[in-house]
Amino acid sequence: MLFKDIYGQESVKQILRLSVEENRVPHAILLSGSPGTGKLPLAIAFAQYICCEHRHDGDACGECPSCVKFNKLVHPDLHFVFPITRSSESVLCDNFLPQWRKMVLDNPYFNLDQWMSQVDSDNKQGIIYANESDSISHKLNQKTYEAEYKTMIIWMPERLHEVCANKILKILEEPPAKTLFILVSENTERLLTTIVSRTQRIFVPPLDESVLAAAVASRYSLSETESKEVAHIANGNFIMAEEIVQTSDENKEYFELFVRVMRDSYCRNAKGMKTWTDVVAKLGRKRQISFLSYAQRMIRENFIFNLKNDSLNYMTRFENDFSARFSPFVNEKNIFGLLSELESAERHIEQNVQAKLVFFDLALKLIMLLKR
Ligand SMILES: [Zn+2]
Repeated sequence: MLFKDIYGQESVKQILRLSVEENRVPHAILLSGSPGTGKLPLAIAFAQYICCEHRHDGDACGECPSCVKFNKLVHPDLHFVFPITRSSESVLCDNFLPQWRKMVLDNPYFNLDQWMSQVDSDNKQGIIYANESDSISHKLNQKTYEAEYKTMIIWMPERLHEVCANKILKILEEPPAKTLFILVSENTERLLTTIVSRTQRIFVPPLDESVLAAAVASRYSLSETESKEVAHIANGNFIMAEEIVQTSDENKEYFELFVRVMRDSYCRNAKGMKTWTDVVAKLGRKRQISFLSYAQRMIRENFIFNLKNDSLNYMTRFENDFSARFSPFVNEKNIFGLLSELESAERHIEQNVQAKLVFFDLALKLIMLLKR
């Protein structure tokens, strides 16, 4: 992984490069920041940069024997630890390395849920188990195979089992020579303060909106306007931007259903409300719930729209166009009523109340609320 393949984060890259140039690479670095900012690819690119035999123009060469191994994540001095779930105590991170390498090489921007769904079909939470620490110290106490440095990347150290965290603390206190720990964390406040204090902390900020728009445009065939919209909503998070692109068809469907029910209810179009109810009733429970939470978001966005401050609104172009006309109908007299009716419809669907009843009742209540 090369620095140039990572979206934005120029100042973080510069801090990392300088530490190598000035020969002061710390023994432990903590890359912290919110999801979707590129912390994991930065960690890997940094390790590759350190080990590259022909660094030039502020990046690894990508072609020397060390880089060739890094390109496949199979360098013998590059180690990974990450949360897993397991069936027996003998299972360690190394057992998941093939899936891990594939996931990272396909797209190094992913979150814990996405990783766990790769390795486990149940919704178990991943853990870095206690006995992983023995494997870590074993690997680090061996001499380096090929490179000057051994790099141990711990992804999501907030998921470390307490026993493992305490053992790692000991290694951090007296690190073996030429060892580089890179902790990649989204919830630094959940780490032992004693671990945090032994690392050099580097904050990885949300991506700039323009960088994110360019990233989305380069990966998906979106127009400039569309990619800017996605970037604005995703708020510096590349993973969220991808989710928005991938679910946009669903988003449009919910938008159309939202517009329909608001219009029909406002015009007291009983026939329209009935047809709408039939359509929504066929969506299935999971999507009905998603629609209702989408509708709550739209109500909030329309209320905020009245403040006429673009930077506070997170909507797509078509949502925005609709809000220009619809937002006056959402005001301080009815916002709480609207939200509370949508919430209670959501709760009823969750409790398996018949969908047709819930949605027709909702449409009726909207008639009164929209007149306020
Ligand atoms: Zn190289």
